[in-house]
Amino acid sequence: MTSTVLPGHPHIAYRGADLFIEDLPVAQLAQMHGTPLFVYSSAAMQEALAAYQRGFAGRKVQICYAMKANPSLAIVQFFARQGCGFDIVSGGELERVLAAGGDAGKVIFSGVGKTRAEMRQALQAGILCFNVESEAELEVLSEVAVSMGLQAPVSIRVNPNVDPKTHPYISTGLKGNKFGVAHERTLATYQRAASLAGIRVVGIDCHIGSQITEATPYLDAADRVLDLIEAIEAAGIPIHHIDFGGGLGINYNGDTPPAADDLWAQLLAKMDARGFGDRQFLIEPGRSLVGNAGLCVTEVLYLKPGEEKNFCIVDAAMNDLPRPAMYQAFHGIVPLQQHSEVPAQVYDVVGPVCESGDWLGRERSLAVCPGDRLAVLSAGAYCMSMSSNYNTRGRAAEVLVSGSTSTVIRPRETAADSFRNERLLAL
Ligand SMILES: *Cc1c(COP(=O)(O)O)cnc(C)c1O
Repeated sequence: MTSTVLPGHPHIAYRGADLFIEDLPVAQLAQMHGTPLFVYSSAAMQEALAAYQRGFAGRKVQICYAMKANPSLAIVQFFARQGCGFDIVSGGELERVLAAGGDAGKVIFSGVGKTRAEMRQALQAGILCFNVESEAELEVLSEVAVSMGLQAPVSIRVNPNVDPKTHPYISTGLKGNKFGVAHERTLATYQRAASLAGIRVVGIDCHIGSQITEATPYLDAADRVLDLIEAIEAAGIPIHHIDFGGGLGINYNGDTPPAADDLWAQLLAKMDARGFGDRQFLIEPGRSLVGNAGLCVTEVLYLKPGEEKNFCIVDAAMNDLPRPAMYQAFHGIVPLQQHSEVPAQVYDVVGPVCESGDWLGRERSLAVCPGDRLAVLSAGAYCMSMSSNYNTRGRAAEVLVSGSTSTVIRPRETAADSFRNERLLAL
């Protein structure tokens, strides 16, 4: 039987007419668990992580999975078992790390709006580092730490003002973005940090955006950060670790991002050339570890031919997969079973939610009948994690595949689950 791997989607392949994830037919999983259903390949996650590990072979590095990409407990546990730390953006994510058996000592806490309660929680847990995003946050963090008789380990997130050439909503390292401390304020901020009783400077970090498909923005940002380290250390403040953030893109629609090991070979060559090669490095990859390891299976409910458009109405919607509605993002959509007897037609693939923005794919050529199932590709990152209960739709189930075994890591949510915490009025 011929096996055709989908480009950019290792471990997802047609064997004959049937779509497989590792050694399991996806249709069998849909039959067992219903739809919409997220399915992830552990081999694909493993390989994505291995590319980073190869890139850093022989270096001091802590890979911190940016878990907002997919924070399901079993996914967090999977990366914790591989030695990963975590980049978190809320106290809730810290609770998930601990619930999944992760190590608080490998956690870095990013985000522009950390509350005092979250700071206390993270200090209590003993996290590795706070990535501080403003001068105001630094003052509050010092106060909170002093009140606990502690010092907060801190890295300042620098906004290097480089254009990552990605979607404006996921670009974070330009002057107009809310993230990080402006390049020209960085030295002054470090000097203030070094003077605060509750702060211990440990590193520097930058994260310039997401779905970056070229090496150049990283190389430019690296130069800017290394310049800053030289200035900060010249002022007598040692920088122990350098954190380059995450943001490496994946192939959604023929995109050709550099492989993680290639990108890091280029970046580390720059570090070596400038005398920083033996530093402790931190990185925060999210999407590139999980994005193309996952797919979302959905069933075709109705075909609705129209004067201007044909609609293929499926049982997954913007509440399950918000990226198309939010960013006009492209996700490949392929049938679980290829059949030749139905002629292909061009459809907008849409969900049942009462919003015109509820679409998963536009103008896709598909040979489908009602009852057929489709796989929405590249659904491992920022899909389940952004899902909601809009329209009182329970969240989808999730299954993790390894070889020919599958494990339900999140059973399907019922409507009752979704309103369990609500209360009726007394009268
Ligand atoms: C979201 C985020 C990441 C991960 O970004 P990806 O594009 O998913 O790799 C890393 N660091 C910070 C601070 C983030 O906010």
